[in-house]
Amino acid sequence: MQAVLEQAEPPISDTTSSPRPLLDRFGREVNYLRISVTDRCDLRCVYCMAEDMQFAPRSHLLSLEEIVRIGTSFVELGVKKIRISGGEPLTRNNVLYVFEQFGALPGLEDLAITTNGTQLVHYAMALRAAGVTRVNISLDSLRMDRFRQITRNGELHKVLAGIDAALAAGFRKVKLNVVVMKHKNHDEVVELVQFARERGVDISFIEEMPLGEMANHDRACGYYSSDEVLRDLRRHYDLQATTESSGGPSSYFRMPDSAIRVGFISPHSHNFCATCNRVRLTAEGRLLLCLGQEHSADLRRIVRDRPADAAGLQRAIIDAMAIKPQGHDFDLRSQPVIFRHMSVTGG
Ligand code: SAM
Ligand code: SF4
Repeated sequence: MQAVLEQAEPPISDTTSSPRPLLDRFGREVNYLRISVTDRCDLRCVYCMAEDMQFAPRSHLLSLEEIVRIGTSFVELGVKKIRISGGEPLTRNNVLYVFEQFGALPGLEDLAITTNGTQLVHYAMALRAAGVTRVNISLDSLRMDRFRQITRNGELHKVLAGIDAALAAGFRKVKLNVVVMKHKNHDEVVELVQFARERGVDISFIEEMPLGEMANHDRACGYYSSDEVLRDLRRHYDLQATTESSGGPSSYFRMPDSAIRVGFISPHSHNFCATCNRVRLTAEGRLLLCLGQEHSADLRRIVRDRPADAAGLQRAIIDAMAIKPQGHDFDLRSQPVIFRHMSVTGG
């Protein structure tokens, strides 16, 4: 069930050609677009997908050309960073086309990908050549059996080889993402930081968000806060808070004896909505204004009905800023209010 809120408020601008920043009602500048290029994945992480996921019919998915059109329009409106995500982006056929097109766009400063890493051995060099600057790789456990349990079918060695391939390819930044769950991997955080230190890569710990209904997975029981992770890590590492920001929800810590950063994304314990600078495009072409709300605009309809109307597309994007909500209302104790899974959203 998806409640799509219509655009109830008047457009904020009648200008379609102005390069001025995309601003929402709360004065926040939107300069970051995350795009889900597919809702499908070769893994089934317990916090992200149900075991028997219903995927969108292929005809509902944006074509690669439609994705490029929409992303280009955002860049023309001042967006500086695009992250390609999913589902697993590297499972989409011919996905390199999207990276190559965005990689050649003047004005785009950062082209990033979030991936589970299983295909990186094959793609890392081509992504780098296409202009990808940053790669985030999900890694929730270093233990084969746990990794398989958490991902339901994943093979850890493929992801580890993918991390090596990303490091060899020479991206500006490679970062690891860990969703921390009590009794599933919370006791591995020290080893994961050690792994990151040995490879010189940043690592972020993420509190699980209540997106989509899950059978056999109790989110409230599995909640392990960023503060608890930090406490556990401080028994081993001298972690010091920094004021560094990447314009996003992470707070960063550093250690005197390593160059890496340890980040925390804490939607429950430290709300980050006040500085939100991003919007998301789902694989079906819905522009989501907030990860934790259903406010959205249907951009697929616009690119399909009026493929040559570049001004109309820009206008729809500008107008959508007026319905960006102030923040999310995540509550782990109640049933999810957001029925879409993270794989649909493009995390
Ligand atoms: N398949 C790719 C991957 O796993 O990196 C990209 C898509 S995945 C949805 C993007 C990120 O969202 C991953 O780091 C994943 O761990 C995270 N994620 C998925 N479901 C989540 C949830 N319910 N709460 C917090 N993070 C979640
Ligand atoms: Fe797939 Fe990424 Fe979701 Fe895991 S987190 S099921 S790898 S989309």
